[in-house]
Amino acid sequence: MKALVLTENKRMELQEVSEEPLADNEMKVKVKYVGICGTDKHLFHGQPGSAQANPPIVLGHEISGVIAEAGKGVKSQLKVGDRVTIDPNISCGYCDYCHENKPQLCVNMQAIGVTRDGGMAEYVNVPETNIYKIPDSLSFKEAAMAEPVSCVVYGIRQLTIKPQYTALVVGDGIIGQMFTQYLANRGLKKVDVSGRNPKKVETLKKIGATKVFNPEKEEHDEKYDIVIECVGVTATLERAINFARRGGQVLMFGVSNPDDLIQVNAYDIFFKELTIKGAFVNPYSMRDAIHILADKTVDAEQLITHEINLEDVPDVLAGNINYKITKAIIKLDDE
Ligand SMILES: [Zn+2]
Ligand SMILES: [Zn+2]
Repeated sequence: MKALVLTENKRMELQEVSEEPLADNEMKVKVKYVGICGTDKHLFHGQPGSAQANPPIVLGHEISGVIAEAGKGVKSQLKVGDRVTIDPNISCGYCDYCHENKPQLCVNMQAIGVTRDGGMAEYVNVPETNIYKIPDSLSFKEAAMAEPVSCVVYGIRQLTIKPQYTALVVGDGIIGQMFTQYLANRGLKKVDVSGRNPKKVETLKKIGATKVFNPEKEEHDEKYDIVIECVGVTATLERAINFARRGGQVLMFGVSNPDDLIQVNAYDIFFKELTIKGAFVNPYSMRDAIHILADKTVDAEQLITHEINLEDVPDVLAGNINYKITKAIIKLDDE
């Protein structure tokens, strides 16, 4: 089969590779679409995403497709021909965290497209427990967004949300946009966005942002009940905490450099009684994500900006392109 292989850091090759034999509990999925995300950029450059990738490996963890084959011991109700999306994260089930109902913190975590071959190929092998059937109303293109949406769902679940609350989303990229649209559709009193790119203001307004501002260019004194940081650099992380009002909740969602340190006013945490939370990947959130995509609470068609081919991926990951991508998705199957 055709596969885009990360052969070493910053190097990818489109290769003809033999299909991996299916393990008993796995199903083979013919890939229709696979999303590219920030994690793939980190992995391409040799930095850890949710885990470290060891080349040679096929990336791609935001996958939709059709079941092509079932392993011998598969017990699920899924059948060959079913339209599906996948949860890339595979926890062990036997470590302390798994036993405490926190599979996202599993010490033996494997991930499709990170530690084992992923969706930037014609076929991908997936444990049956990680496959989710999608409704007919959901397109394959939309379904490839289920994994990032599931991470957003899990992030939201870390927060106490009330209709009278105000929210600030820090970051105007795809993750910021998904949070914005989701919160706006949940009827929050207001959802403001801080971002730098003036070209994204129109999209952000269209998907429900109340106000969009650039904190590097304009004074903005307002404080918020909920602040969601979706960039992951020190300036925005520090700013996010400063934007929280007394009793505020800050979700640190952006993936930062593992060596980065931030400065926080310690008295603020006490005096404002701040809650600062992290959210790692997507436990128990895939079904929510599929539903949210199907009812357009998050409208994937509206948010995906580029549809590309496998051949284009190395340039996109290396940043060798002169157009601005908010969300690119790879089309695999030409049928
Ligand atoms: Zn991703
Ligand atoms: Zn575990």
